[in-house]
Amino acid sequence: MKILTIIGARPQFIKAAIVSKKMKESNFISEIIVHTGQHFDLNMDKIFFDELSIPAPKYNLGINSVSHGEMTGRMIIEIEKIILLEKPDFVLVYGDTNSTLAGALAAKKLHMKIIHVEAGLRSFNMNMPEEINRILTDRISDILFCPTQTSVNNLVQEGYKNFGCEIVQNGDVMYDLALFMQKMNSVKEDDKKDSKKFVLCTIHREESTDNIKNLNSIFNALNRISREVDIFLPLHPRTKAKLKNNFNLNFKTHEPVGYFQMANLLANCSLVITDSGGLQKEAFFYKKNCVTIREQTEWQELINGGFNMLSGYDENDIYNSFREMISRTNNFNVDLYGNGNACQIIVNTLLRYNSQNSK
Ligand code: UDP
Repeated sequence: MKILTIIGARPQFIKAAIVSKKMKESNFISEIIVHTGQHFDLNMDKIFFDELSIPAPKYNLGINSVSHGEMTGRMIIEIEKIILLEKPDFVLVYGDTNSTLAGALAAKKLHMKIIHVEAGLRSFNMNMPEEINRILTDRISDILFCPTQTSVNNLVQEGYKNFGCEIVQNGDVMYDLALFMQKMNSVKEDDKKDSKKFVLCTIHREESTDNIKNLNSIFNALNRISREVDIFLPLHPRTKAKLKNNFNLNFKTHEPVGYFQMANLLANCSLVITDSGGLQKEAFFYKKNCVTIREQTEWQELINGGFNMLSGYDENDIYNSFREMISRTNNFNVDLYGNGNACQIIVNTLLRYNSQNSK
């Protein structure tokens, strides 16, 4: 069975790392990777391929640093050519970026079958480019792999049972990866009792960075928090560009870090503050509370369980959420993201399709 995988952004490299590994081990899937080029810096791209042994892309489209429309359009043009050339059995897309939507649209117009990993998530905020991408991708996908019960419920409520697609609740592939990292001893907890704790922070969403009012209140709040606890903030290139010459930070920032360093930061921090989708879950995997600087999240079960708090963008609300979450005690022994076999379920599902087709 031939799978054409479309990836282009950091969170997709991370998800593909563990899914590609399992597909390779299956011995019946041959995978061809297309890298759209959406993320391209050494520390946003190559470091993940090297550290996580992701198979090298056969195609790199080098499409980046242009508007949403131009980026998506140019990706569709190039992906269409590759699909016609490679004639895969399935096109596989991850998550909610422009690369996801472009891959799905190019495939659907050629009547190809589409697999969407991380389907069914909703923030219910249609101003977010990610929400547009994920809804449109879900609607034209054939197999929708859902990480959570909430994501399955969303699809059922939207009538997906009548759309002729298959919905599979497989769990979260990032949870599989977190478990794999722990098994490989790639994560070391600092057991020195007196070691200084810190808050791990990432900020990169359009709503946090392009809206100057939000950007100001977020970094004013972080300046305030940094007077009480150290902050480790690996700065996304988009945020770095926006902050440049605009803001005086009271604390030092860092370049984006690789996945091993990130896992160790997660294991050793006292709290996560973020606007990232993936990091909210990783905080939970590493048994850390989280403050999410957004008004909605597609990971609602974390809010319901008290593991995560949405602060919104007001400076005082961000600071107060930090105060609340840094001292909240939680029991993290609950299964929200499957049993660590999300990738195996993907492979088993494809195996079933393969044997049905060869009959
Ligand atoms: N990440 C990383 N290094 C960094 C910042 C983030 O490896 O300097 C990882 C993080 O652990 C998570 C993923 O990148 O697995 C999240 O990506 P991002 O926040 O860019 O995207 P989102 O999850 O919001 O789509």
